Amino acid sequence: MTVPIPPDRVRGAQEIAAVLTPGRKVALTTHVNADGDGVGSEVALWHLLTARRLAPVIGNPTPIPSRFDFLVPSGADRSDRAAKEIEAADVVVVLDISDLSRLGDLASAVKKTRGPTVCIDHHVSPPRGAMPGGPRLIAPEASATAELVFDLATALTWELTPEVARALYVGILTDTGAFRFANTTPRVLQVASALLGGGQGLDPESIYESVYASAPEGRIRLTAEVLQTLVVEPDVGLAWVTVPPDALARHGATPDDLDGIVEFPRSIAGVRLALLFRQLANGRIKVSFRSLGNVDSAALAHEFAGGGHRKAAGASLEGSLATVQQRVLDAARRHLRLQPAGS
Ligand code: AMP
Ligand code: MN
Ligand code: MN
Repeated sequence: MTVPIPPDRVRGAQEIAAVLTPGRKVALTTHVNADGDGVGSEVALWHLLTARRLAPVIGNPTPIPSRFDFLVPSGADRSDRAAKEIEAADVVVVLDISDLSRLGDLASAVKKTRGPTVCIDHHVSPPRGAMPGGPRLIAPEASATAELVFDLATALTWELTPEVARALYVGILTDTGAFRFANTTPRVLQVASALLGGGQGLDPESIYESVYASAPEGRIRLTAEVLQTLVVEPDVGLAWVTVPPDALARHGATPDDLDGIVEFPRSIAGVRLALLFRQLANGRIKVSFRSLGNVDSAALAHEFAGGGHRKAAGASLEGSLATVQQRVLDAARRHLRLQPAGS
């Protein structure tokens, strides 16, 4: 099945192809605490560029979560020396963010690069830190960055090998919450269908197992502990959970193990906004926002210099857990009262 590519995406793909010429050294990177879309998009592009005789490496600000190890080709991930790889690259490709500040410690290395900075992304938020110049493939209406990497490859008739198809499928699967969230568009289902039905022999069950059913025991025990902190305010439709400050260390867990926990408070009947609070290693407090219906998570996250999408957004704030919680909860209640259910 062929999926038509919008003309502006074809133009973006051609501009990107013009800087990705054989022999060039390319550094691929994504946001801190990479998710399946960031890693899947990087890995797919790594294979696509290697097949075109470029020299790509992945260099991320934080380690790739172990649940995605099955995707990453041996030797491709140089996140241990990411700043050096970025500085040495002829072209930097930033995936799944348009905001320089989401690159953590790598922001300064990307700012210093000599060559063009390609950006492929689907976030709606206005960037606070602008990326250096270069060709863009940005479409907030895309379900996942992996959908845009699919468009890039398709527009340029670059072959979707089984490794590319698998990585793109993981990006789409994880960013749509396994085809459940509001961003599960007819088009992204067509793209998934092309990936599964394209003769590459993808096995959705084994991908599901690798991504969602290979959890370390600590992830489940951590989930149990975080869910114990649940607070619900049914009158406004708000629910939140808090990660106890030492919980990750006690369960031998990483931030990736928290992925999806905020779906539990969101799944309570009548809840329109769910929050997860946790302390980051740098002492700041990270808030994840998830909403339903007409509640705009991104608008709320913007109040705290964060960003994301309408139904899923995040922000990181200065202050103690208690004071940040109070500020964010007050804003959340105000937001929910101004936006009654069904309005
Ligand atoms: P998370 O809550 O970390 O799963 O993130 C949900 C969405 O919000 C993702 O699309 C992120 O890219 C975005 N996001 C998370 N944290 C931030 C932040 N500090 N600033 C801007 N966007 C964020
Ligand atoms: Mn992401
Ligand atoms: Mn994404």
